[in-house]
Amino acid sequence: MPTVYLVVPCYNEEDVLPETVKRLTEKMTAMIADGLADKDSRMLFVDDGSRDSTWELIENFSKENTLVGGLKLSHNRGHQNALLAGLMSAKEHCDCAISLDADLQDDIGVLDQFVEKFNEGCQVVYGVRSSRRTDTAFKRSTARSYYKFMKALGVEIVYDHADYRLMGKQALDALAEYKEVNLFLRGIVPLIGFRSDYVYYERHERFAGKSKYPLSKMLRFALDGVTSFSVKPLRIISNIGMIICCMSIIGLIYGLISFLTGSSVAGWTSLICSIWFLGGLQMFCIGIVGVYVGKIYSETKHRPRFIIEKEIIND
Ligand code: UDP
Ligand code: MG
Repeated sequence: MPTVYLVVPCYNEEDVLPETVKRLTEKMTAMIADGLADKDSRMLFVDDGSRDSTWELIENFSKENTLVGGLKLSHNRGHQNALLAGLMSAKEHCDCAISLDADLQDDIGVLDQFVEKFNEGCQVVYGVRSSRRTDTAFKRSTARSYYKFMKALGVEIVYDHADYRLMGKQALDALAEYKEVNLFLRGIVPLIGFRSDYVYYERHERFAGKSKYPLSKMLRFALDGVTSFSVKPLRIISNIGMIICCMSIIGLIYGLISFLTGSSVAGWTSLICSIWFLGGLQMFCIGIVGVYVGKIYSETKHRPRFIIEKEIIND
């Protein structure tokens, strides 16, 4: 029987925590009773520097409920880093860890299937959404094009899989070797390898509280995914640059011919247009190169990705 840890990142989740703890406790108790999980199995709530009473709630729950463990980050480091902190701490105690969101949007009914696949020898089990019915049309279409775009850039990510996944101890040890600061777990986990499988589930609406991923954060996350895993944008830029060079040579030849035949005077409009166009394009290119330079900068600093302030794990 494996020791299963549920890793739950929480950022200002006081509205959902009591219900989440209740539902997960019921589920875990059932799994332990059914012989799917060892009695040392735990839920590990990672407080990602919340400003509300999230940590106090976790602390209080851990006093009356031995299944509840907590990890408090000293500062808000974002979903991915909070998850990593939880997984790295869980790996010292568990055989496998399952990450899930605090709002229980991901159906916890399939937790059994995750563990069964682990028992069959999978080190990584991806939770994949069977439909996107609960999403807005906007989110659905942008998500779909994003997966396609990533694939075109040669990044291996699992379609319609977010961060609902099981990782065995071995996979977690391997994950610990990835020292990058710009963390995009969905891209890293497939790189780790090992035997893997999928579990399909329905995603529900958030039952309380607000999404902690506004559009701006989501865009940053999406861009991070691209620039952390692919250098193709750089190549595309240099290709565009080359094409524009060729075009400008053609334009120059055309201008020379029309000048020699005396048919026209070079126009001010076309001149000013090209200055603006090239200026804009160059700035755009420099901007993208800058993103990569920024990444190199943050990677070379080797800053810690999280700092654990407190840890509770009941025996
Ligand atoms: N989260 C976090 N740190 C952050 C933002 C979010 O730990 O800076 C957690 C949040 O508490 C939740 C999970 O990440 O458990 C997913 O966030 P949310 O449900 O708001 O995202 P959505 O489901 O809307 O994409
Ligand atoms: Mg959510």
